[in-house]
Amino acid sequence: AVERYASIRDKPAETVCGSVVGLHMNAGLMADLPSLQGSGAEGVGLFRTELQFLVRNQMPRRSELSALYARVLDAAGGKPVIFRTLDIGSDKVLPYMKPNDEPNPALGWRAIRVGLDKPGVMRMQLQALIRAADGRPLTVMFPFVAQYEEYTLARAEVDKALEREARLGHVLPQKVEVGAMLETPSLAFAPTKFFEEVGFLSIGGNDLKQFFFAADRENERVRRRYDTLNVSFLSFIERIVERCAQTDTPLSFCGEDAGRPVEALCFAAIGLRRLSMRPASIGPVKSLLRRSNLDEVRKVIADARHRGDMNVRPAIMDYLRDQK
Ligand code: PEP
Ligand code: MG
Repeated sequence: AVERYASIRDKPAETVCGSVVGLHMNAGLMADLPSLQGSGAEGVGLFRTELQFLVRNQMPRRSELSALYARVLDAAGGKPVIFRTLDIGSDKVLPYMKPNDEPNPALGWRAIRVGLDKPGVMRMQLQALIRAADGRPLTVMFPFVAQYEEYTLARAEVDKALEREARLGHVLPQKVEVGAMLETPSLAFAPTKFFEEVGFLSIGGNDLKQFFFAADRENERVRRRYDTLNVSFLSFIERIVERCAQTDTPLSFCGEDAGRPVEALCFAAIGLRRLSMRPASIGPVKSLLRRSNLDEVRKVIADARHRGDMNVRPAIMDYLRDQK
């Protein structure tokens, strides 16, 4: 599949109407990094750090993490990498952590909630990241931020970590960008001040969709009832795009849907200009975007809405069929 798209690998995902969409890749292991070259991704839009914690039977040491993150940055060779801090708890239980007995783990004590309540691990991770950067730029993203204050508190931890590292005589990153994942509907309605303060946002569509439709992402029976191109969900994503545009907040989409060409096309049509996906999806997504006219896709979406369609997918599929 990679060979099939080799001819466009080093070309931008530029649409027929002249919009350029940045395509980045999701990763979580050192072994994923070679795909950065092979896929033509512009960077790592989501590095899931929890995998390193899940594959061991004891808490990794700071020095080990720091060495690993440094190798990730080395392998990226100057392309940007967004490190997402530990996204665990509830269902993703670390073997060496006391499991919680929670009735609704997906709505439970997870991700940033654990990070803020028990900051030891998050502080260790931030230190490891700062040391790994060793003077290079560093980008950190916090998972599952549901309200403004959680971002502010997490951001303060980054600042404290930087001060501590400076005091200890470590080289600080050339610049530090701090962002949040938007994966609960509540964050889309945060005060404008939040959008102004946050360095960037990335839509975690897997979680966002499950909370938007109240349909467990792990439960096939309910998950498949609700399509990403449902008008309600698409309007919601569009609202997030508009809020970010008002405050000049960089926005990306890093859930699985970003790697599905038809979904990616619709996201681009409603204004998303950065998508992060598994490496193998970059070729197919880029190929479709390069053949598409977003003005036309926008019109197809608008007409479908006007007619009262529940879902824009049938109209988009008809349109794409006519394109051939
Ligand atoms: C998401 O929720 O869309 C996401 C990218 O994070 P994860 O799949 O790791 O929860
Ligand atoms: Mg998520």
